[in-house]
Amino acid sequence: LHNTIQELKGNIRVFCRVRPVSSSVNGSKNETATASIRYPDIEGRQIEFAHATETATGSQVAKAYPFTFDRVFQPSSTQEDVFEEISQLVQSALDGYNVCIFAYGQTGSGKTHTMEGPLNASAESMGMIPRSVLQIYESAKTLEAKGWTYSMEGQYVEIYNETVNDLLGNDGLNGGKKHEIRHADGKTTITDITTVVLTSPEKVAALLKKAAHNRSVGSTLMNERSSRSHCVFTLRLSGKNSITDESSEGVLNLIDLAGSERLSQSGAKGDRLKETQAINKSLSALSDVISAIANPNANAHVPYRNSKLTYLLQNSLGGNSKTLMFVNISPLRSNFNETLCSLRFATKVNAC
Ligand code: ADP
Ligand code: MG
Repeated sequence: LHNTIQELKGNIRVFCRVRPVSSSVNGSKNETATASIRYPDIEGRQIEFAHATETATGSQVAKAYPFTFDRVFQPSSTQEDVFEEISQLVQSALDGYNVCIFAYGQTGSGKTHTMEGPLNASAESMGMIPRSVLQIYESAKTLEAKGWTYSMEGQYVEIYNETVNDLLGNDGLNGGKKHEIRHADGKTTITDITTVVLTSPEKVAALLKKAAHNRSVGSTLMNERSSRSHCVFTLRLSGKNSITDESSEGVLNLIDLAGSERLSQSGAKGDRLKETQAINKSLSALSDVISAIANPNANAHVPYRNSKLTYLLQNSLGGNSKTLMFVNISPLRSNFNETLCSLRFATKVNAC
């Protein structure tokens, strides 16, 4: 698949981001022992990953696993560095493209940091969602001079146990409303979902806070919950040009995926088993869909309907759409196996 991903470079790209060591995972442990990670090329596309063990004579590095991506971000990369590499893709949503940007990786690898950034983020620590909204807002303003007016609508949903929940509702996640996904004329709608008209970029911070609040009300342990659900932020951009009479409809989806840690079904029971099955099902459906659309002989059937996630994103995956996947990884030695799995998933979607 990696080769086909490279061939279709314009439409599917994979970026790897390594998080720093110092940030403690879920605020609990504070490990510092890392795997051996090298970044051999100056173009910033390669990563060499190996297990390191301490011996009496120093550190010993075992077999190295090399990977090449469209871009590798080292732990020192800032949110701004990362955004710089996606800003063109974000821009193309204003030009009428449908775009999906995913964050894939095990719990604690930096997905939410990349997508949302911390709550009450500073201008520096803001994640890709607020940065995208800001950039689109700025660009839309400059396009006004050429006759364009844009309307910007935002939605934020969670897919948990194959059920769509509204993260922006006024009565938490358990307002009792059922949300159905509908497709008509190439457009996707979700019934009874809250839609926020983004009249100013400042609104997005409040919106992320509300989503975090709703998630915390919806469960006893917020981190647990968000690591077991997919969060999909959707920005719909409709433009009209009063001079040329042109119009454009673009969609930008930013998706913080459920934790990819290999979930064994053997020990799981009850609710946990159900969650595990739902995550396994949807992540493998996603990799199947990406494999199918990356296949250049594609008259083949693309199995969008195999999960809520792929069904929801049907109009933004494949065809003319553009896809980017961040593979977020942890540098910690204790995460070695999961990290290797994530890297393999990214290069060869079905390896794990
Ligand atoms: P995930 O969403 O994949 O479970 P988080 O984004 O919550 O992981 O990251 C886990 C912890 O590491 C958080 O405390 C987060 O702030 C921190 N972190 C992750 N990536 C970075 C980074 N690039 N720079 C600084 N801190 C980070
Ligand atoms: Mg998270």
